[in-house]
Amino acid sequence: MSEAINVITGKCVGCGLCVKACPFGAIILENKIAKIDLNKCTLCGACVAACKFDAISLKKETAPAKDLSAYKDVWVFAEQMDGHIESITYELLGEGRKLADSLKMNLCAVFLGSNIKGKADELVKRGADKVYLVDKPELAYFCDEPYAAIIIDLVKKHKPAIFLCGATTVGRSLVSRVAVTVDAGLTADCTGLSIDPATGNLLQTRPAFGGNIMATIITPNHRPQMSTVRHKVMKEAVVDGSRKGEIVISEITAELLKMRSKRLSYVAEQGATVNLAEANIIVSGGRGVQNGDGFKIIKDLADVLGAGVGASRAAVDSNWISYSHQVGQTGKTVCPKIYIACGISGQIQHLAGMSSADIIVAINKDPDAPIFKTASYGIVGDLFKIVPMLTAEFKKVLGK
Ligand SMILES: Cc1cc2nc3c(=O)[nH]c(=O)nc-3n(C[C@H](O)[C@H](O)[C@H](O)COP(=O)(O)OP(=O)(O)OC[C@H]3O[C@@H](n4cnc5c(N)ncnc54)[C@H](O)[C@@H]3O)c2cc1C
Repeated sequence: MSEAINVITGKCVGCGLCVKACPFGAIILENKIAKIDLNKCTLCGACVAACKFDAISLKKETAPAKDLSAYKDVWVFAEQMDGHIESITYELLGEGRKLADSLKMNLCAVFLGSNIKGKADELVKRGADKVYLVDKPELAYFCDEPYAAIIIDLVKKHKPAIFLCGATTVGRSLVSRVAVTVDAGLTADCTGLSIDPATGNLLQTRPAFGGNIMATIITPNHRPQMSTVRHKVMKEAVVDGSRKGEIVISEITAELLKMRSKRLSYVAEQGATVNLAEANIIVSGGRGVQNGDGFKIIKDLADVLGAGVGASRAAVDSNWISYSHQVGQTGKTVCPKIYIACGISGQIQHLAGMSSADIIVAINKDPDAPIFKTASYGIVGDLFKIVPMLTAEFKKVLGK
């Protein structure tokens, strides 16, 4: 796309409306004529809309449309760490399979790492028809540059219609580089994906405006259609040992393996005993817990149940517990079998991170708290009485 913005000096009266309208401070008045600093201008068009004298012209020339028919197949990025395939990969394969079936296309996994050849079949058993495998010692640890360069190379060669990646630290870092280079549309943090039966376009749904609406985004003019997908929102593909697929060993040039950074060491997060995203049971505390000491009874219950400890943003913002425990739109998305919410009101931003739990138990002293609308079981009462009672009872029942 090439663009041009110009001030039509014959029409400009030096009123300064455009200066006020520009969110980037890119316009000044010089001798009563607007002057645009092209280094700061993002071509957003706010000045054009503000100018009452039609004195600013903005031309956007759209590049000729791509031949979209050349793009086929649904790809997922198979995230792994130390050769262990991350569960987000199986979630992507589960969702990718549905998309591929509705488009009558193949589902392919892109699998990069070192000493991972023997694991490629696991991706086939979870639904992949084809695995593009790049197995090199240099890829032992995730590093943006070679990982992105290889995927860009594969995308250019094989032209997938859809490319899905986990909205994980690795996925977010990787896929944005790929999308920019291959000139693709990218929708971050999707919680729902489907195919528009009329056009075959990918419908990418994600929370927007602080979680108050769900926006469905399409990228009809660009391929691949790229999305990052929230962990624990989609169900994992089930294992089918009878499935057969093709493992394609992808040859790459040494140039693609170049990197300017290297991993010196790996430090596991301190203090996090249970990985929240993987926990089967989570006991969470909110503002109702009152202070940092209040979390002791939450942790006691979690210990007895072998559960992870979660928190609302209100508790995290009050410094009662660290951010790594925050559940919700700006925290972690979790999908445990049981989620016990203690002193949490149930605002939409919190629900965005936990409402797909199988069973939700809410403990709140306010019978009208919104969390009770989502909860499978509700206990109205003071958490400082109820939580220790539950801990004592579970101790007895579980023989601890
Ligand atoms: C852009 C944006 C992103 C956000 N992201 C997140 C997010 O990721 N996660 C998140 O959690 N929030 C998030 N929020 C904040 C969210 O809107 C709420 O403010 C927050 O979830 C409230 O936390 P809470 O339920 O602990 O507190 P409150 O809403 O204050 O609720 C406290 C509850 O405790 C109950 N209570 C009090 N004392 C007791 C007691 N003794 N026994 C039993 N119950 C008691 C009260 O009845 C009340 O229902 C976000 C907000 C915005 C705008």
